Amino acid sequence: MQGEQSVQAAAALDPEERVELLLRDLRSTRTGLTAREAARRLVHYGPNMLRRRGGRRWPGELARQFTHPLALLLWAAALLAWWAGIIAVALAVVVVIVVNAAFAFVQEMQAERAVEALAAYLPERAKVLRDGQELVVDAVDLVPGDVLVVEEGDRISADARLITGGVEVDLSALTGESMPAYRSAELTDVHVPLLQARDLVFSGTVCTEGEGRALVFATGMHTELGRIAALSERVEREVSPLESQVRRVAWLIALIAMVTGLAFLPIAVYGAKLPFHDAVVFAVGLLVGNVPEGLLPVITLALALGVRELVRRGAVVKRLSAVETLGSADVICTDKTGTLTENRMHVAIVWTTAGLHHLADADSAAGSADNAALAALAAVMARCNNARSPTDNPDGTATGDPTELALLEAAGRLGHAMSPADRERGRLRQFHFDPVLKLMSTVDERDHGMWTHTKGAPEAVIPLCSRIQQGDASTLPLTEDARRQVGEQVDALARQGLRVLAIAQRRMDAATPPASRAEAEQDLTLIGLAAMADPPRPEVAEAVAHCHHAGIRVIVVTGDHALTAAAIARQAGIGSPHLRVVNGDELDRMPEDELDRLLRHHRELIFARCSPEAKLRIADALRAEGHVIAMTGDGVNDAPALRRADIGVAMGRSGTDVAREAATMVLTDDNFATIVTAVEAGRRIYDNIRKFIYYIFAHTTPEVTPFLVFALGGGAIPLPLTVMQLLAFDVGTETLPALALGRERAEPGLMDRPPRPRSEGVIRGSMLLRAWLFLGVICAVLQMAGFFTVLVHAGWHPGDPTGPGTPLHHAYQQATTMTFLGMIAGQIGTAFAARTDHASLRSIGVFTNPLLLWGIGFELALAALFIYAPPFQHLLGTAALTPAMVALVVPFPFVVWGADELRRWLLRLRRARGPAKANPGEAVVRR
Ligand code: ATP
Repeated sequence: MQGEQSVQAAAALDPEERVELLLRDLRSTRTGLTAREAARRLVHYGPNMLRRRGGRRWPGELARQFTHPLALLLWAAALLAWWAGIIAVALAVVVVIVVNAAFAFVQEMQAERAVEALAAYLPERAKVLRDGQELVVDAVDLVPGDVLVVEEGDRISADARLITGGVEVDLSALTGESMPAYRSAELTDVHVPLLQARDLVFSGTVCTEGEGRALVFATGMHTELGRIAALSERVEREVSPLESQVRRVAWLIALIAMVTGLAFLPIAVYGAKLPFHDAVVFAVGLLVGNVPEGLLPVITLALALGVRELVRRGAVVKRLSAVETLGSADVICTDKTGTLTENRMHVAIVWTTAGLHHLADADSAAGSADNAALAALAAVMARCNNARSPTDNPDGTATGDPTELALLEAAGRLGHAMSPADRERGRLRQFHFDPVLKLMSTVDERDHGMWTHTKGAPEAVIPLCSRIQQGDASTLPLTEDARRQVGEQVDALARQGLRVLAIAQRRMDAATPPASRAEAEQDLTLIGLAAMADPPRPEVAEAVAHCHHAGIRVIVVTGDHALTAAAIARQAGIGSPHLRVVNGDELDRMPEDELDRLLRHHRELIFARCSPEAKLRIADALRAEGHVIAMTGDGVNDAPALRRADIGVAMGRSGTDVAREAATMVLTDDNFATIVTAVEAGRRIYDNIRKFIYYIFAHTTPEVTPFLVFALGGGAIPLPLTVMQLLAFDVGTETLPALALGRERAEPGLMDRPPRPRSEGVIRGSMLLRAWLFLGVICAVLQMAGFFTVLVHAGWHPGDPTGPGTPLHHAYQQATTMTFLGMIAGQIGTAFAARTDHASLRSIGVFTNPLLLWGIGFELALAALFIYAPPFQHLLGTAALTPAMVALVVPFPFVVWGADELRRWLLRLRRARGPAKANPGEAVVRR
């Protein structure tokens, strides 16, 4: 009952009314709801999510499989056969279409499900007040009446009215305008369209600056986002470049098949003097044999399975096409903190004018009580801080920025523990950590005075200081000499791989807190330095070594100090032996052409003290040079660089929602090594796609040859394969082994070769020629040998009649069956040959792809059915083969596979002997 009332109340709400009224209408308070009330409301309002329209889409999807252009071509072939009166062939082509459509449908559905399941790995979270405490909850659990805590980088998950603070929001998801809009609790607008009311924020938008608290008034389908029907509909899946490339090639081939099929009609009728009926059979055979209709769904599924596999390994890829791009990545631009390191920081050393204090050392810390500078340092570390230690949170977990957590913990060790409540009570203003300025300040009331407390990168803080604190609480002017000494100290600490922050403060005489950041952060007194250790991730060194083998450059782009970054990079093996470090200001002064030159001539670099804009410049410069780059980022300002990179990589744990939204790939473990794993998977998936394209195209020659032999025989040679047999071959045998090749394991040496150049297509001319003229010809020769052996053995001479009722008819039927079985045998050999590109099959194991073995087993069982079951014999014109005939076919797969094994062996031999033919990208990478 109460729930019904609240639903009705929500419907009649006016979000533009006074906050107090809105709170009353929503039966909430400025400190939010109780957890119990929120749970109750969730039952009544339902989860905060957008319902998808059109759940029953599959009839449309299925219909599409029958009407896509390649299927239409097959329909044309069926019509042609129908028109010529060959009803059985027409029906058989229809069976081909139906079976293919069913396969494609199942594969696409599976692909879609794999991609949709990704949403579960990137749950949206929201910060809310429940029972007066700040909590992180799943965004689907938000209810009207909740008070949201909105901070820079957060995605807003419900429509809400700001009750405190001010934020800048990017409304582009709703309005299409990408200009940020300022929204504040103080700007009340009434009688304006909701989207323009300057005190409202909306679901689907992101906060790019500022902070505030907002009262949720609409969730789920009641939000503005829910109202925009177009957005709530399913997003169309974009076609990846790989798919469109294959589609183009498939079309080209289908077109050639159609033109040759139709062109041969008059040639066969007037040139070879075939009856019209046979000529149509011939044309239909050519068409059906050549249309690569199974190719696209297999590719889509291979990419989708790749995406699913990547999720298991810690990388959520948001677009199918990213899988193929990953495979060609040749530069990884990574940040340091959290990606190369563990982001588990602790303050190891603090420095004041009184000297160094090792925090692990109990005596040193104990001596802090009588050191005024150390006490002041601890006070600033505790106050200029927003983290909450495990003891501050009811659930016993620490929350907040790891840098700040480390400082908070160190302050406690130095005898200055402070609860969040005390900290909040004293705080008058806060100037957030700004990654461009690289510092943060708070203005607090303390010891009956008003103080600015500042912490940040030494290069940012020291220039703002005019004095330096001494151990006895006195201060001295910060002379040039003192600045130099502090600088040396910073360098000495950074050289050990420590992340150094400078700590400063100022007592203010004014009655009101400073209005601007510049006003607060001036004339400071430097108190000291805090140096924290953040251990490198143990798996990174190996991952970097993999990159080097694979011709992938690793460039570190960090906000941290050059020496700290260099020390960490060196530990990870990046850039050895000559590591070039470029500082942020050096980069800012650097003209474009010099940056290009720098990137061209240095294999690995560190860009230190880098701003987000500099990241964008580096991404642009590398892309202009033709590199395919993966770039990490986690802040709001990193979004443009993440979008610009070929693969923007965001952090699932530590990054902001904005970065995650802009990225193509999200690492659920924040780990550099996962990027390398993803590249490896991308390479393998791309290789596998090539393998089954090769496999599918290798059929063409064996499929077309019997018809060519027949036509060119001018009536002397009977048709070596009936069209029905060809169709049976097409239906039963192509897809399963192709699918199995899509799951092939990585070939040895996958990460020992340079990245694929960006311009290289998935289907290369040489690959087609090899499929058609090498494997295809071997298979065709073998199957035709089988055909003629049986025929000749039965006493056939060219020109002898083989039609029904003639003495040779049974032998002829057995001979066509031999062609049919020979084709299947050749295909089995091709499948094994296609499993590797250059390695020997032995090196990956003959029986390591069980799906392929199952596929082949299925293929053979089907072949036995087609050959020995009387109904199929009747339908397809096959006849039972004798054991001797079957024995003749048994070596075929081994011949085909063996021939390719030999080719690969020769290839390896040539590679090992001659100097590796470098591709253009390699020249830069492998110096
Ligand atoms: P990376 O870019 O590799 O993640 P980073 O974390 O050091 O490295 P930023 O987060 O851009 O990069 O930080 C830049 C610098 O700003 C840091 O090196 C540190 O000196 C300072 N800094 C970082 N966090 C804070 C903070 N919460 N308050 C004040 N200063 C900070």
